[in-house]
Amino acid sequence: MSLVLASERVLVEGELRPAVLKVDGGRIDQVWWGTSDPDAVLKPADDLFGQVLGAVPEEPPEVVRLGDLVVLPGVVDTHVHVNEPGRTAWEGFASATRAAALGGVTTIVDMPLNSLPPTTTVAALEVKRAAAEAVRARGELHCDVGFWGGVVPGNTDDLEPLWDAGVFGLKCFLADSGVPEFPPLGPDELLKAMDRIARFGGLLAVHAEDPATLAAAPSRPGRAYADFLVSRPHEAETTAIAALLDAVRETGTPTHVLHLSSARALDLLQEAKDEGLPVTVETCHHYLVLDAEHVPDGDAAFKCCPPIRDRGNQDALWDGLRAGIIDCVVSDHSPATAEEKSGGGAPGEADLQTAWGGIAGLQAGFVALADAARRRDVPLADVARWTSASTAALVGLDRGPRPKGVIAEGAAADLLVYDPDASTTFRAAEMAHKNKISAYDGLTVRGAVVPLPVDGSTSDGTLLRRPA
Ligand SMILES: [Zn+2]
Repeated sequence: MSLVLASERVLVEGELRPAVLKVDGGRIDQVWWGTSDPDAVLKPADDLFGQVLGAVPEEPPEVVRLGDLVVLPGVVDTHVHVNEPGRTAWEGFASATRAAALGGVTTIVDMPLNSLPPTTTVAALEVKRAAAEAVRARGELHCDVGFWGGVVPGNTDDLEPLWDAGVFGLKCFLADSGVPEFPPLGPDELLKAMDRIARFGGLLAVHAEDPATLAAAPSRPGRAYADFLVSRPHEAETTAIAALLDAVRETGTPTHVLHLSSARALDLLQEAKDEGLPVTVETCHHYLVLDAEHVPDGDAAFKCCPPIRDRGNQDALWDGLRAGIIDCVVSDHSPATAEEKSGGGAPGEADLQTAWGGIAGLQAGFVALADAARRRDVPLADVARWTSASTAALVGLDRGPRPKGVIAEGAAADLLVYDPDASTTFRAAEMAHKNKISAYDGLTVRGAVVPLPVDGSTSDGTLLRRPA
């Protein structure tokens, strides 16, 4: 049975307007805009013309009137660590996709590391796909899932086979990744991988922190967030990004800068874009919503690398988004167990040097970001572009038979219903991700994701391959 959604505020062609959507089989069949009255556009059941032609009357669609709730394309979060198989105690496909669905996320692309084996060969990709498929077969995959492949020293020959097997891009680290089975690339290995990826027309994604700068920075153990910040300086990002951009100049490889935290790299990135280099940039919800001044000491829920920096830096990241230097916003959802997160300390006493770095932002990210945007007078349409259209375009999901990231005829019926006037208080204990730790715990924001008032999501969980 098809479904009809009607609202005063549907994001169509970059603007919120009254529209009626007819959805069938996971696809948006028809869009009427300029009206939110389904009766004005739907064919009446006693259609005379139909009777004359003797057509069998169609079963009437289920009509859902959403009033002035906002309808947006579902979030496409291209930076998520699901950790299954191998570190499933940290997170898994069922819990991560449930958190995603509750947060308005209809597609995730899973990172190649922290799961075991890491996704650095086609065989490892198949192991991960099988794990996700088992969850899907149980009916517990609550959004679409795609996969990144990984680049590590020595797997250059695995990159094209991974790409051909449908990964959405290939990720590498320039500094320690935090797990021993996913080592970083040195400068020569990076160039070698970039040459190869350029040859088959792939996409490289890079965790850009410079290992020498990190090694030279003071890294005092303990619970003080200020000490942790000093150990992950701006220069680690600017140095790594400058070198990376030189490598892009040399190789022409399409390259995506992951989780930009330091706004001091924005000038470099602007120059690179002005030169026409094939570079895209993401930042994360938490860098735009949370700031160092409000991070409590000893609480590793806020620890991530690169780190959450000061408020002035945050303002500059927003400027970078508005200027189009930063293309997208993602969660970098990367949970761990309470034990890993504590770094051996009691609650509130975590050693921030040894605690696991990663923020669980899949469920809270969009709503928290939309609230921060509202307070900065940034239109919701821009938030939707950064979290959905741009991320879909990054990984090629804006193409193919059912493009994502847009509400249009023929597009995927991946929708997010958002109530800008409701309020949400995030409670880590009530969140759907596996380990109930969250940097957003206790935060109250305006806006809420509204579950679609119909049976099931418009997005059934599908394992995705990169569209050709
Ligand atoms: Zn990550």
